[in-house]
Amino acid sequence: MRDFPQALNGILDKDNVWYYDAVYESRDGLYYLEPLVEELLLEVHSPRMVARVKRTADYESALYAAGGTVQAADRIWHREIDNAFVFTSFGDHHAGRDFYGGMCYFNGAAVAVSVLREMGVRRLAIVDTDCHHADGTRDIFAGDDDVLHVCFCHQDYEDSHNNVDVSIPFATSDEEYMAKVESEFVPRALAFKPEYIFWEYGYDATRGEYGDKGLSRDCHIGLAQIIKSVADEVCRGRLVTILCGGSSRALATYTIPRIIRCMAELDPV
Ligand SMILES: [Zn+2]
Ligand SMILES: [Zn+2]
Repeated sequence: MRDFPQALNGILDKDNVWYYDAVYESRDGLYYLEPLVEELLLEVHSPRMVARVKRTADYESALYAAGGTVQAADRIWHREIDNAFVFTSFGDHHAGRDFYGGMCYFNGAAVAVSVLREMGVRRLAIVDTDCHHADGTRDIFAGDDDVLHVCFCHQDYEDSHNNVDVSIPFATSDEEYMAKVESEFVPRALAFKPEYIFWEYGYDATRGEYGDKGLSRDCHIGLAQIIKSVADEVCRGRLVTILCGGSSRALATYTIPRIIRCMAELDPV
């Protein structure tokens, strides 16, 4: 994150792009994000788990990470913004009702779903292209027929509650991966008609990363185009992209600005 927001040069000066910052409150021209309030966490996570995270040094950062996702969803609902890319210090998808792990403390997408439901939203979709299985998100929504969860990971599994896992083998080409997203996510989302799409964006399956499945860095830009066009078609473009796994600074500074350009409908570079 040290490279951001500098890596967004050429984007932040656009009329349709806003940058919300949780860290530098005093910086001119920035919108300040609030940490998540605890009672919202308890709509998703057990009091015991929240208490455990509270005892870690990362508690405050985890509140901002989940809070960013919730506030993005809220601002989209109120039509202040069309979509959002959430830079999180911690991911979402390994945080379940009563457990956390893999640098995911709180499930920001799940809290956002809970908040949106209080505002009248019913059906939501979560698509996960991080290399690893979204065990936390699955734990929370396993029996929920109003959440479509399509997870591209390492197993093929489908059950009766709109939870789908699509196996991505090692040494997958960009074309094969995008074809799987086109065939396994797109038709399900079009049929499900969610009112929001959350994209758990991990780049850890890129070549050289810790979850290397053989993808090139440009595969993620292709995924952004596919997912954005589905959001445009089914839910008026309501898309919240949440940064998930991945470690390379070079990959982050290459892919994230390009994904944001796609989401903001700016010319690709
Ligand atoms: Zn991962
Ligand atoms: Zn999975």
